[in-house]
Amino acid sequence: MVAPVILSGRSLTMRFGGLVAMAEVDFDLRRGEILGIIGPNGAGKSTLLNIITGLYVPSSGEVRLEGERLNGVPPHRIVGRGIARTFQSSRLFSDLSVIDNVVIGRHSKTRSGVIDAIFRRSRADREMAASVSIAEELLKAVSRDLFEQRHRLAGELPQADRRRLEIARALASEPKVLLLDEPSSGMDDADTDALMDDIRALCAARPDLSLMIIEHDMRLVAALPHRVMVLDYGQKLADGPFEEVRLIPRVQEAYLGR
Ligand code: ADP
Ligand code: MG
Repeated sequence: MVAPVILSGRSLTMRFGGLVAMAEVDFDLRRGEILGIIGPNGAGKSTLLNIITGLYVPSSGEVRLEGERLNGVPPHRIVGRGIARTFQSSRLFSDLSVIDNVVIGRHSKTRSGVIDAIFRRSRADREMAASVSIAEELLKAVSRDLFEQRHRLAGELPQADRRRLEIARALASEPKVLLLDEPSSGMDDADTDALMDDIRALCAARPDLSLMIIEHDMRLVAALPHRVMVLDYGQKLADGPFEEVRLIPRVQEAYLGR
């Protein structure tokens, strides 16, 4: 049985002045699926995640989550509806502890301001305490090693742990869909292998979670995604299993040409 589509995009176009960063792109993401997104620099990969998460409003086209239109919904509401992401460059709060960074990720799930609570330690103490224990459980599940380092400042962590923490923070909002923008960037092969193991474990623990992963590391792209979508100059070149997509001449040109 094929799982239902949870997230879809239709005819997505994004113009920045005269530049067309995305042209008429369609995609579907099914429940429990890992969709890889590959393509040269400037192909529009991050733009696609920015459209899905409401940071960019597409010039035309639409995004739907479980059939409901997301166009015009502000980013924090989109998190609340179940889409979480990481960014290509780290957006951790370096001066906050590991655990507080995860607690901030729970922001969309708590009624009173977790961010207020962290910075002022006044209101919402009960919610805060609940968020901390949930955040600790989550950290433990993502990485025992990160959990042990929970009181360190995020800024003191090695790069690979910072990237792992970003994933933990995104998961704290209890998403249905998790979007990762180049999660292995800045990692060596050993760290990338560990990241792949983490993602496999996560998907095994949460079979309903759907992932989109933008990636440059072809080892990861070959191993993790069920399906790969190739973007080039804002257009969709191909969509299918990696073993098939990598053989398409235009895909090879897009990579070898730069
Ligand atoms: P990728 O993530 O595939 O490397 P991006 O999606 O970041 O590519 O960018 C695609 C194109 O859109 C690039 O030419 C980039 O310069 C342009 N672009 C992205 N965001 C903006 C923006 N906010 N303003 C202007 N141009 C942008
Ligand atoms: Mg990018």
